Amino acid sequence: MSDLKNIPVMPKSSWIDAPAGSDFPVQNIPFGIFSAEGGSAHPCTRVGDTVVDLRVLAEAGLLNGLAIEAEDFQADTLNPLMRHGKAVMRKLRQRLGELLAAENATFRDNAELRKKALFPLEKCTLHLPVEVGDYTDFYSSREHAFNVGTMFRGPENALMPNWLHLPVGYHGRASSIVVSGTPLHRPKGQMRPKPEEPPVFGASKQLDFELETGFITFQGKPLGQQITMEEAEDYIFGMVLFNDWSARDIQSWEYVPLGPFLGKNFGSSLGAWVVTLDALEPFRTAQPKPEFEPLPYLRGNGKQAFDIALVTAITTPEGNETVISRSNFKHLYWSMAQQLAHHTVNGCNIRCGDLLASGTISAPDAGGYGSMLELSWRGTKPLKMNDGSERKFIHDGDTVIMRGHCEKDGLRIGFGEVRGEILPAL
Ligand code: CA
Repeated sequence: MSDLKNIPVMPKSSWIDAPAGSDFPVQNIPFGIFSAEGGSAHPCTRVGDTVVDLRVLAEAGLLNGLAIEAEDFQADTLNPLMRHGKAVMRKLRQRLGELLAAENATFRDNAELRKKALFPLEKCTLHLPVEVGDYTDFYSSREHAFNVGTMFRGPENALMPNWLHLPVGYHGRASSIVVSGTPLHRPKGQMRPKPEEPPVFGASKQLDFELETGFITFQGKPLGQQITMEEAEDYIFGMVLFNDWSARDIQSWEYVPLGPFLGKNFGSSLGAWVVTLDALEPFRTAQPKPEFEPLPYLRGNGKQAFDIALVTAITTPEGNETVISRSNFKHLYWSMAQQLAHHTVNGCNIRCGDLLASGTISAPDAGGYGSMLELSWRGTKPLKMNDGSERKFIHDGDTVIMRGHCEKDGLRIGFGEVRGEILPAL
């Protein structure tokens, strides 16, 4: 698969304006699913705040020669496009870049096509970009694992003995993954707030978020075969923002001995835009130095991280936003390649449209922790909001917003945001 190492050069500018500071210049070309004006949902990309309809471009013949069937551009998920694999998706992104380049008149000067294919973002509804088959959540931030371990076991025993040897993970629930902007109800469940008393049932009082990113896979190998470190990125379509909502009181009572269950699967929020690894390539950087060399199947070249600034904010019911955390994807101890190599080393097959999430991404400093559990240190240090109110965990009517972007040498590539409001329990 060595031909997959050559990443196409994207145009310098587009005839569609991207406002200063936009996450979506023509060098990005993310993929999503949208609908507009009561029409059906199908694949799109965007430049600035303009959504570009791929179905219309395909119908106009501008996406011919890519070995993609017309119906793949009419689907309401990206899965049919992604089934073509990395080489074809790369060519599609390259073609879109060419069509949107400032100097290319084909699309630019076709007023009728522009009218049919371009939509202002505010007139669009964004849908779940991918039909997620299987969802796996890792636990790959050393800072997060250390913080949580310290709270429950003390700093000496914070990291479990396996943690520095393998990317710890669990299988999550795909059915309750919702697209950014979808409100969720506060979950109810069984909890044991006072260890000396019997458990109780009710609405969670310790509702939390987890700042994460995820990656979406192409079709992997047949059952029984592994994906190596060297091959791993060939099977990764792109990255998304992800909020792994967590009810801490339900979680802490139920998780022994098999791990997260109802404290997690009431809902997880996925960003609407899949940003390709190709778009992120200029921001590739070293991951943290391992404490000791991992087993051979997890050894890479050490440059599998990406410098992605991540910001988390809470908007209170009155509409007042407070930034509560600034972290970065590059802090993760285990890379996406290591996660995928580990996931498949036993022969487990991944499929087109699987979601592998990073785990909570906490920065080394307290201003960059990736959950309320850590930011408020289990509720002992309430956070001050800009409107004067305090938060230990998430209140009804709060909206949690996560944003992510890379910036270097004047180029900014980002993900937009993943947001979700918490409604009262039903
Ligand atoms: Ca998580």
